[in-house]
Amino acid sequence: MRVVWLSLLCAVGLSEFGSCWIFTDSKGVPDAEATDPSLDPPAGAVTASGRESHRREAREKPFLFPGAVDSPLEGSGCPTIISRAQWGARPPNNKVSLVPPVPHVIIHHTDGNPCASQAACSQEVRRIQDDHMDKKGWADIGYNFLIGEDGGVYEGCGWSTRGSHAGEYNPTSLGLSFLGSFSETAPSAAALNAARSLVQCAVSRGFLSRSYTLKGHRNVNPTSCPGNALYRVITQWPGFKA
Ligand SMILES: [Zn+2]
Repeated sequence: MRVVWLSLLCAVGLSEFGSCWIFTDSKGVPDAEATDPSLDPPAGAVTASGRESHRREAREKPFLFPGAVDSPLEGSGCPTIISRAQWGARPPNNKVSLVPPVPHVIIHHTDGNPCASQAACSQEVRRIQDDHMDKKGWADIGYNFLIGEDGGVYEGCGWSTRGSHAGEYNPTSLGLSFLGSFSETAPSAAALNAARSLVQCAVSRGFLSRSYTLKGHRNVNPTSCPGNALYRVITQWPGFKA
């Protein structure tokens, strides 16, 4: 019987969200939108080199959250999050911890390719990570989470690691980015619901303040991000403050 109970306890302890890391060695990580031409490239960017940096992270056992699929805006249910291991992330070169709960959530679009399946979105997220690490010289993918048109939520640098997405707001915010370009058309209902569910999840899990403010990237940096159509949507969301 002891073996059975130990197995159960171990299974409970495998939460994907326990896997965010804490690092104290902080190197300045420049900020700019992934493909937003309105922002200057980071100064002093260091290009990752060597094949080792392309090694993808070891596959981990996924942890699937209950609920939130049928009622994404209710209660403390969190959306299913596609882990870094599941989309084939590379290990980060460095991490700086976020101190929870952060007071802000910043909404972006990637201004890149849209995607509507886990396979396609995983490929696009890998492309973005490569771009951020190899071309911009950042330590990791800059967003905390990314959201596909099928409503899939992809773990970026995660809940507990400071992202590179909103300049001076990086230390005090979570950056959520919709995969695609949303200047003319808004994201799908599935994607919008997933994002709102993720924000609620962040509050319920203590990563985001209950009195949070939600902003578009354009509200904090000189950029058109997250696109006019998406921006109009988020101005109606709880906590929005320009
Ligand atoms: Zn942005």
